[in-house]
Amino acid sequence: MKRILPAIAFLLFCSAIANAQPDPRYKIHDESRPAPPIVAPGTFSTQEAPGKPPSDAVVLFDGTNLDKWVSQDGSPAKWKVEHGYAEVVAHTHNIHTKDSFGDCQLHVEFMEPNPPHGESQDRGNSGVYLMNTYEIQVLDSYGSKTYADGQAGAVYGQYPPLVNASRPPGQWQTYDIVFHGPRFEPSGKLLRPARVTVFHNGVLVQDNVQLTGPTEHGERPAYKPGPDKGPLALQDHGAPVRYRNIWIRDLGN
Ligand code: MG
Repeated sequence: MKRILPAIAFLLFCSAIANAQPDPRYKIHDESRPAPPIVAPGTFSTQEAPGKPPSDAVVLFDGTNLDKWVSQDGSPAKWKVEHGYAEVVAHTHNIHTKDSFGDCQLHVEFMEPNPPHGESQDRGNSGVYLMNTYEIQVLDSYGSKTYADGQAGAVYGQYPPLVNASRPPGQWQTYDIVFHGPRFEPSGKLLRPARVTVFHNGVLVQDNVQLTGPTEHGERPAYKPGPDKGPLALQDHGAPVRYRNIWIRDLGN
């Protein structure tokens, strides 16, 4: 067994490398190669109205209800839903999706409270938790200072955003995220760390960075072995941050 597991790991690793190459079953420009699925693209959001998701997206929040979400203890989500958005109600806890997701493309829109309240980490703090584990920070970083790996667009505690692309509080902002979760050997050994790419308001802020492990405040714990999927969570950090137009596309790999 001790020899078999490393061999399996090596084969999976080779397979991962192989996946990055053109498929050897087809010649270049092969007319017999199946065409990719057709997806009707959505529309871009404006400040006045959310855009339409692409046709194959799973819509997690369309502005009407939080039926696809629960509070962190499993009870119904207690955030306020009105006027086409959901707003954090302080101290009602994080919410997360009933369904689980792994490798994905994720679109989230948020608005920071206007007028702004508080400074640094207390200014409009919330967060998008991939697999309920890895936080992309949501914060009002427009003209407000905090530590770099904790500002808007940061992989919290790991990577500052490449640039600060924040819009002023009171305006809708977007995160477009491409996430590949970690993989573990049956023994629990890390086979592949998680990676993430993030666009903030259309601007690249995380360029395929390799995550060190789960998000914690003040430390960088190692990965814990687990499933390939987990719920998407949004953070209650006490600030009335608003969300709208949340959709996800399963990347299935
Ligand atoms: Mg946060």
